[in-house]
Amino acid sequence: MLSIYYLPLSFLIYALAHEFYFYFTHVWMHRPRVYRNVHAVHHQSIKTTPFASFSFHPLEALVHAAFLPIMVMLIPIHPVVIIGYLIFMTVTAISNHLGVEVITSSHIKKHFISGEHHAKHHRLMKYNFGLYFTFMDRLMGTEADALKSHKLKRAYE
Ligand SMILES: [Zn+2]
Ligand SMILES: [Zn+2]
Repeated sequence: MLSIYYLPLSFLIYALAHEFYFYFTHVWMHRPRVYRNVHAVHHQSIKTTPFASFSFHPLEALVHAAFLPIMVMLIPIHPVVIIGYLIFMTVTAISNHLGVEVITSSHIKKHFISGEHHAKHHRLMKYNFGLYFTFMDRLMGTEADALKSHKLKRAYE
């Protein structure tokens, strides 16, 4: 029998695995052919609003939707945690597309993605591919704020 501590641990494992899955599938969707035929639908929203949160081409929706069934087959999770995770996914998808920042602390903003971070992705396209956390963008050199380029700074200021 799984310990009670496995409930939050499984949530965290799913969120971290999702970050990897989302980051690499998102970067892949920015390859010219895939972008033109699939991901461009989501990027029709240059200025983000909550309506952009679930505005995807059906093939992109399929890629996003495949994550949970794959994970459930690999890593055990309690049904209540899945429901909590689905709510978390929905709330963060909306907050990432609010077009305004909801995280006020600069320490938290450094590690977690919110409105401002993802709005820059919609404007700049080549940066900020992450889902919940900023570590993948920092690790892969695609975080807009980490880049000191004046040209880039001018592009989003
Ligand atoms: Zn994108
Ligand atoms: Zn988006």
